[in-house]
Amino acid sequence: MSEIIADTRQRAAKTHYCDDCGQMIVIGEEYRRIRGKWDGDVGVYRCHLECSTAVNDLHKMHGLCSDEGISLRSDLEPEDVVWIKQKHPIVADRLGLK
Ligand SMILES: [Zn+2]
Repeated sequence: MSEIIADTRQRAAKTHYCDDCGQMIVIGEEYRRIRGKWDGDVGVYRCHLECSTAVNDLHKMHGLCSDEGISLRSDLEPEDVVWIKQKHPIVADRLGLK
């Protein structure tokens, strides 16, 4: 179970790594920052705006709620890869999808 404490867009003051794709969020880049509680632990989840949109769309497509996390790095089915390349080319490039 998760609880969102704050969900904001911020401009990176230092580099971070996207919790969705694993690639760098560079200084000055706008990103989504979610502060929340996951399984009792407070933490911060940071992701590229495009990755956040892609993950949200994947959840909708598969009929999952946001608690049922999909990782762009490990949970992609072959049809998801095709779909990401078509609908989210920036994310596909970050993931190195061929
Ligand atoms: Zn990302």
